Amino acid sequence: MDAVGFTDLLKKKALSLGFDACGAAQAGVLPAESAHLQQWLATGIPERLAYMARNVEKRCDVRLLVEGAQSVFMLLMNYKPATVQRADLPQVAYYAYGEDYHTVIRRKLNVLEETVKAYYPNAQVRGFVDTAPLLEKAWAVKAGLGWIGKNSLLVSPAFGSFVFLAALVTDVELTYDKPLESRCGHCTLCVDACPNSALEAPYRLNVRKCISYQTIEDKALEVGYTHRYILGCDSCQLPCPWNKATAAHVHEDFKPFPELLSYTAKDWLALDDTQFNSLFAHSCLQRSGLKKIQKIIR
Ligand code: SF4
Ligand code: SF4
Repeated sequence: MDAVGFTDLLKKKALSLGFDACGAAQAGVLPAESAHLQQWLATGIPERLAYMARNVEKRCDVRLLVEGAQSVFMLLMNYKPATVQRADLPQVAYYAYGEDYHTVIRRKLNVLEETVKAYYPNAQVRGFVDTAPLLEKAWAVKAGLGWIGKNSLLVSPAFGSFVFLAALVTDVELTYDKPLESRCGHCTLCVDACPNSALEAPYRLNVRKCISYQTIEDKALEVGYTHRYILGCDSCQLPCPWNKATAAHVHEDFKPFPELLSYTAKDWLALDDTQFNSLFAHSCLQRSGLKKIQKIIR
């Protein structure tokens, strides 16, 4: 099968598996993003993000991640929920409402890997969802899925920024999509909405001040934390005009845990480890753990 035919087949397969959008980019170095990464690392990063300083070469050149890689096939899943928590409850970022996306997307990537192998038995192909040194957002831009918003997140014209990204890197040649230009225009709503001034300027995120980082990675957070989020933070995505216009997702796997939608601070504090692990066994909440959530609420 030629590259045009196989790209078409792979895209149809991805959509049939439940991905909401996909696109392909030619593998190689991302010069601007690599320079930006090196610059950022040079400023000194928090200890908990030390993994970003490892495998920098692979991060900058995907061909070192998958030998002979020719194509980066980028995939996107909408996770904007139809029902949200009441504003007076301890808030959880939308991405963590349902089953852990790593597991959900991994299952789909396995099928896509098998699809490539069925047509190209000797192909190199690997799927990634947040597990590899890969600049997913930059590849998503290159694959035509959206642009980088001033909050440094990918914004899809069709699905906004409440989206998960995943990648399939392969040595099979595909046909490639065109990157999109930014459609942020003069808007700065995301920068203005950040409650911790973590967005110091458009496109400039100070990760140490970011609540999303603090609630998951920062062990020292509990002292003096006053924000309403107990996991993640959506404050710079909620006002984005591109998120207002989009439809809620329809993925059964991302259906919210009912307890998560309704729990008050008192309910969270009353949980013990056994109950938490049983209720949220397959949730991203496991990443921070009950102890941290309870310390934040107290
Ligand atoms: S996630 Fe929250 S704290 Fe981080 S940049 Fe966005 S609004 Fe600011
Ligand atoms: S809020 Fe405005 S500036 Fe920020 S990502 Fe959305 S469109 Fe771009």
